Amino acid sequence: MFYERLGLVKRSHVSIRNEEKDDSKDEAEIKYYSNQYSVNGQVELFQQVIIETQSNCDNNCPFCPQSHTQRQYSRMEWETFTKIIDEFCAIKYSGRVTLFITNEPLLDERIEAMIQYCRQKSSRIFIDLNTNGKILLIDLLDKFIQAGLDNINIELYYPHGEESNLPYIHTIQEIRQSYKNNPKIDIHTRSLEEQLSNRAGNTKKAVTNLPLNWFCNYPFRKIASEQQGMLSYVVWIFYILRKLGISLKPHYMKYGTIQ
Ligand code: SF4
Repeated sequence: MFYERLGLVKRSHVSIRNEEKDDSKDEAEIKYYSNQYSVNGQVELFQQVIIETQSNCDNNCPFCPQSHTQRQYSRMEWETFTKIIDEFCAIKYSGRVTLFITNEPLLDERIEAMIQYCRQKSSRIFIDLNTNGKILLIDLLDKFIQAGLDNINIELYYPHGEESNLPYIHTIQEIRQSYKNNPKIDIHTRSLEEQLSNRAGNTKKAVTNLPLNWFCNYPFRKIASEQQGMLSYVVWIFYILRKLGISLKPHYMKYGTIQ
């Protein structure tokens, strides 16, 4: 997973969600973005682009919005995908590109081709995937790595106790063994009883004790596109930044259904 503070992106094994609230960190973040605007008249470009290429998942984790909402199946057009990547590469974007949001990316059979497209367009971007591992096979993983994938998080959501109860655990063990010295492959065991935030009200499970007045740097660091090329967080970004008197115009790009 990725940890971002003060515009710096780092890989981390600790989720920012598990941190204790620390007012001094909030203040430093606010100061960081305010200073940027005072000096440059704008804030810097986001560091993560997250793209959901199809809307389905083959799991049903109780803490995930996917399990609490009825989503009509939707799939991104290839042309929309390439347009997004082309436009980010044209501005020499060098951050992380993830090919998932709240879905299972491997249900899109074009994922290998998408990784390859991203890599051919730019060697600077960091191409990242998250999967629940249910349909991952070692040959497929080999292909992803050959296509240019930089990182894959395999999240094993296991019910009641042991990961050995997972029906696909033999494949996972094979992957563990074959890639044991390769840091591009990260395998985590996760419990379905895990307590996470309510994802802005999108899960019915009331779980969080996170303080509501925590400063959120999300709109400054990520931009997300769903299947139609809609920038899901662009509305927040414009809304919040307009409130602050900040214009994002220099960084605004045209793609998908946003013109
Ligand atoms: S596997 Fe991932 S996307 Fe699917 S329900 Fe679980 S957390 Fe959500």
